Amino acid sequence: MEENADVSETYSRFIEIVKKMGNLGYAYSVLSWDQEVMMPDGGIQARASQKAVLASTIHEILISDELGELIEKLEESVESLDEYSHANLREAKREHSRAKNVPPELVGEIASTSSEAIEIWKKARRDSDFDKFAPYLEKLVELKKEYAQSVDPTKDAYAVLLEDYEPDIEIEDVVQLFDELRKELVPLISKVKGSEERPNMQLLNHYYSERKQKKFGEIVLKAMGYDFDHGRLDVSAHPFTSGNVYDTRITTRYSKNDIKSALSGTIHEGGHALYNLGLPKEHYATPVGEPRSLGIHESQSRIWENHVGRSIAFWEHFLPILKGIFPNQLSAYNLEEFYRAMNNVEPGLIRVEADELTYNLHIILRFEIERALFNNEIRVEELPGIWNDKMKDFLGIVPPDDSMGVLQDIHWAMGIFGYFPTYTLGTVTSAQLYNAAKKAIPDLEDKFRKGELIPFKEWLNENIHRFGCLFKTDELIERATGEKLNPKHYIDYLNEKYTEIYGL
Ligand code: MG
Repeated sequence: MEENADVSETYSRFIEIVKKMGNLGYAYSVLSWDQEVMMPDGGIQARASQKAVLASTIHEILISDELGELIEKLEESVESLDEYSHANLREAKREHSRAKNVPPELVGEIASTSSEAIEIWKKARRDSDFDKFAPYLEKLVELKKEYAQSVDPTKDAYAVLLEDYEPDIEIEDVVQLFDELRKELVPLISKVKGSEERPNMQLLNHYYSERKQKKFGEIVLKAMGYDFDHGRLDVSAHPFTSGNVYDTRITTRYSKNDIKSALSGTIHEGGHALYNLGLPKEHYATPVGEPRSLGIHESQSRIWENHVGRSIAFWEHFLPILKGIFPNQLSAYNLEEFYRAMNNVEPGLIRVEADELTYNLHIILRFEIERALFNNEIRVEELPGIWNDKMKDFLGIVPPDDSMGVLQDIHWAMGIFGYFPTYTLGTVTSAQLYNAAKKAIPDLEDKFRKGELIPFKEWLNENIHRFGCLFKTDELIERATGEKLNPKHYIDYLNEKYTEIYGL
């Protein structure tokens, strides 16, 4: 009896501390959202110092002896905890011990080197001058090797880095999965390239006002069940989603001529937002109340963007509405033609502009390069050449310069390695989840044809969102779909879809 009272007191104190971190983290997110969406440029000085104070305060709490001791104490009586408390403990322990092992000076050095590197990278990309950026990248790679070594000296550096974003997936499994994908995708893309069939892309030759694009975006978001009492849609340079179970906001960007870009982006971020808003409220600001991983998060955005927003069933309902908003621009399109235009495949140089089919090769390329870098198989100075060779290999095109190639993404300048794979892991997961949802709701696509998207949202709420971090990633996927992560669902989906569209 007494022991239980003691455990519950210890657990309450533990929850108090993790909630403090959680709330500070959400405050940080609101400041970042404001910085991207609202803040006047002149505010940067103050904002940077506010964010630095919050970040270091969170870090201090995370590595505090008190938190460590509470975790240790609770572990002794772990059997008396319920499953959510158990998961809270597991997640907090991982974060605490990883952070605790890293010397504070190293954390500081990575932060200062990367802020310098970002500024250099911007110039290097503008001038397409890799040599300017190379010394900073080299230093960041060395620092991140040191970081990985201090987190877990028993593992390969890159495996440790990957765990920062995708804690439960083994690197060997990622390697195998990506190899399999690459083997399937490269020939499929080259068949598509060789096809005579070309979607009619004249929709790109029209003007679409931002106000009207936003209006349509809001119609779709509402149909998806995105609650504007708990969210907002704004504009930012790079679209993102930010927030918690009570308040999750999304941003998009509008292109005057390319209506596809904001459309896909808005649906994508809407999928991320539904995940946050579907997390367990009763565990707000605790580890178990958080999204499972970046890969699972991305599965929620991709499933809406691709499996819903690029499906013919969805457009059967929504094209007439879109044509009502843009009658002149879209008058020439029937459903079938519009569907094909939404799914146009065009191997390109830039990852963020890639279509559904070629996108993953951009990721696999980065994954292979990152892994080789951290395994000491290649050197930073060789990167531009290796990048271009792989582009030729994978997509049959070679960047004219490094700004369109190895310098295009900001991640490495930020010291972020091991993040890219989560984009493809999420995409692969989304196909498997979609098949499971179709099995559970046999008339799912008939519902889409009538604009009824809520049953699909509810399936995701029920099978993914509400669990937060209760399960590890593989268990979450297995519970929702009946099997472990299996790329077959994604490969079959792509083969079927693009064979039909391109008459292969
Ligand atoms: Mg995303």
